[in-house]
Amino acid sequence: MTTGLVAHERYFWHDTGNHAGLMPPRGMLQPYRHYEHGETKRRLLNLLRVSGLAEQLVAIEPRPATVAEVERLHTPRYIEHVRTLSDGFGGDAGEPTTRVPPGGFETALLAVGGAIAAVDAVLDGRVTNAYALVRPPGHHALADQGMGFCIFGNTALAALHARHARGLARVAILDWDVHHGNGTQAAFWDDPTVLAISLHQDDCFPGGSGGVAERGGAGALGSTINVPLPPGSGGDAYRLAFDTIVEPAIRAFQPDLILVASGLDASMYDPLARMCLFAGDYRDLARRVRLLAEDVCGGRLVAIHEGGYSAEYVPFCGHAIIEELAGLEPMIDDPFALGRVSSPIVLQPHQVAAVEAAR
Ligand SMILES: [Zn+2]
Repeated sequence: MTTGLVAHERYFWHDTGNHAGLMPPRGMLQPYRHYEHGETKRRLLNLLRVSGLAEQLVAIEPRPATVAEVERLHTPRYIEHVRTLSDGFGGDAGEPTTRVPPGGFETALLAVGGAIAAVDAVLDGRVTNAYALVRPPGHHALADQGMGFCIFGNTALAALHARHARGLARVAILDWDVHHGNGTQAAFWDDPTVLAISLHQDDCFPGGSGGVAERGGAGALGSTINVPLPPGSGGDAYRLAFDTIVEPAIRAFQPDLILVASGLDASMYDPLARMCLFAGDYRDLARRVRLLAEDVCGGRLVAIHEGGYSAEYVPFCGHAIIEELAGLEPMIDDPFALGRVSSPIVLQPHQVAAVEAAR
């Protein structure tokens, strides 16, 4: 079994600007950095290299997506808007926190192309599965605007590539980013050939989005599944959701490929949500999805990096996932888990009720 890794230094150059977290610095707010900054993901790549895991992976070179490929999801008008901002001094792609920096158009195309390159490597049999460490993220981006730090919908466009360029009949997407995968949901709302499942913190971002009643359009009812979990959920709640909702749904759907929108912001240490996963819990989820892929689609699995804002902890969560995709035993200790292997938050009755409600 071989695991591919897409990475490129240019991803880390995407400059989200001078912020204090989410806020533009002004008045009493000292300038610092935007939560979505390049170091978080660069530190994951660095850890893969320092631990030796990177040497056991197959490097997959990303390429820029073409405009025609991006037009499978986004309107020509929006794509031109991003290009114009990028060619000038930069600006907002749709909301103030979602900035296109100078040159950001090319980086966003390289992120889409990285996700596509990972899909191609798996479908061509060059690797069994792959992790695309791309940036900027994509799962909030809508057809006609950017949102939630996302410019183009990397994961949705990878699924559209698999469907339309590679001729796969069915693709399943599991989004474990802590925020609702609203852009991916919108992309496939009326499309019964793509199963879009989102596990997320209930009503976190975007507000009011991702409730259990959102199940797909008239022609695709049931191909959207939302599992909103209460804040404070740990590994047990995620495992229950996977075992009782995600796995049966994907088995019934029989996809030809599974994509994971791999946000690492449901961790215990993330500043942008209130969930409690440790790296060991991400390892568990990755093992479950790898085994499921081996069972239903010959192991064909591509994880595409989305959010994750703890620069200290994201590297350990990502490392655990990639180790598990490669079928390797843990190579390093998780210094943040304080001797535990999974989240100390045991299953609570209201968390069980939330999972039951989503079934
Ligand atoms: Zn997120």
